[in-house]
Amino acid sequence: MDEAVLVIDMLNDFVYGSLRCDRAKRIIPNIKRLLEEARKHGVPVIYVGDAHLPKDPEIELWGQHAMKGTEGSKTIAELEPQAKDFVLEKRTYSAFHETGLDLLLRQLNVKKVIITGLHTNICDRHTAADAYFRGYKIKIPEDCVDSFTEKDHLEGLEYLKRIYGAEITNSEEIIKAWKTRI
Ligand code: ZN
Repeated sequence: MDEAVLVIDMLNDFVYGSLRCDRAKRIIPNIKRLLEEARKHGVPVIYVGDAHLPKDPEIELWGQHAMKGTEGSKTIAELEPQAKDFVLEKRTYSAFHETGLDLLLRQLNVKKVIITGLHTNICDRHTAADAYFRGYKIKIPEDCVDSFTEKDHLEGLEYLKRIYGAEITNSEEIIKAWKTRI
């Protein structure tokens, strides 16, 4: 298996807290199911979420959110990481920027990243950019990513497809492919 599932910023502050996004609730059950199937099929699950320090550039722009060590920076209870999952912290939009993600993916022989979480046009997009620059293929289950507005979400998907060659799919299709591969 050369895939891994990335879970980006499914944190208390992004779903319920200071950067609350009600649309995120739509994707929680879809991500939950995708992660359960990934674990069953030996596909690595890697959480990468904000853990900000006060001087990080984003704090000026967005205000305090997901500050390191706070409840707000913890993964939402519905998607709590399991024992064999990997959990990394980030301080910028990209899950690759100084997080050790690239090294981890190489150690796991991953060639394709399945990006889930928030937001389609911000952190998912910057993560996709860095994945693309490093030669990873990208899959986006559209029912497992979202943004503050429908417009942001749809434009985000279109950008990922057009600029990084991301395959836009859904969680059902991904799970089906895992099941037929066994
Ligand atoms: Zn942030």
